[in-house]
Amino acid sequence: IDDTLPTVTLANGIVVPALGLGTWQMGEDARAAQREVEALQRGVDLGITLIDTAEMYGEGGAEEIVGVAISGRRDDLFLVSKVYPWNASREGTIAACERSLKRMKTDRIDLYLLHWRGEHPLAETVDAFETLRRQGKIGAWGVSNFDLGDMQELLALPDGRNCVANQVLYNLSRRGVEYDLLPWCQERGIAVMAYSPIEQGSLARNETVIHIAKAYQATPAQVALAFLLEREGVIAIPKSSHAARVAENREAAALDLSDEDLDALDAAFPPPSRPMPLEMI
Ligand code: NDP
Repeated sequence: IDDTLPTVTLANGIVVPALGLGTWQMGEDARAAQREVEALQRGVDLGITLIDTAEMYGEGGAEEIVGVAISGRRDDLFLVSKVYPWNASREGTIAACERSLKRMKTDRIDLYLLHWRGEHPLAETVDAFETLRRQGKIGAWGVSNFDLGDMQELLALPDGRNCVANQVLYNLSRRGVEYDLLPWCQERGIAVMAYSPIEQGSLARNETVIHIAKAYQATPAQVALAFLLEREGVIAIPKSSHAARVAENREAAALDLSDEDLDALDAAFPPPSRPMPLEMI
């Protein structure tokens, strides 16, 4: 069985695994901290070297967990973090980035995202991202929760084309992006990071997905992830605070869904037949 992790080449030439580690809801409870650190470290040991976090998660607590987990192995990793929209002014973005760097005890964020659109003009945020990039504090920048119209507006700005990723809600039960946003990004080499790829755990309890998984002696979470890993330019970022589940999710890379099973998934989770507004969690 080939369980090599698929990769995605970002527009800046950096190659990242198509499977990453989510961190939402980490860093909220000190009693869980050790388990969370171990889950992230297990993932890294298994080659899942992309970690997704945000200043929002645990109000900085998740970035602190990441800081502990990556200690001594920073150079092997690709770190993604996000700025709150209300911090995303020209100066505010830079200050927020510096706080995130301190919490993660590193001097560089590999990919820095605007978490969702807010009141600050996009041009200001892009300007700050470009400053951070010139300073070497970030390697590249992108956005999150941007629908097609937002992306078109962004790419029309000076330096807007330097956006390398859009992180959006995308999983079997949320396929709206397949109609237009996903192909649009694929055509432009903008990576799509699929967040909540197991629909916050609920796809692991879905009868159709459970049924298909059984035939492969796989788990439903693996089926949900394999569905995304098949797609060009898509990076799935499941979160688990349990090392055993991280290992389980890693093995989704070994799962090759048959055409019949992909058809069965299409029947249970129909792909969009018309444009749909981007959903958010
Ligand atoms: P996921 O779809 O990744 O699901 C996470 C939930 O599923 C957790 O409760 C986890 O439990 C459980 N789980 C994980 N693996 C398995 C498994 N193999 N079997 C059964 N259950 C499992 O949801 P998230 O919303 O966390 O999304 C993933 C990441 O995407 C976030 O952590 C965050 O980094 C990012 N994100 C970004 C957003 C944005 O606006 N940009 C919005 C939402 C998420 P447990 O931890 O107990 O194992």
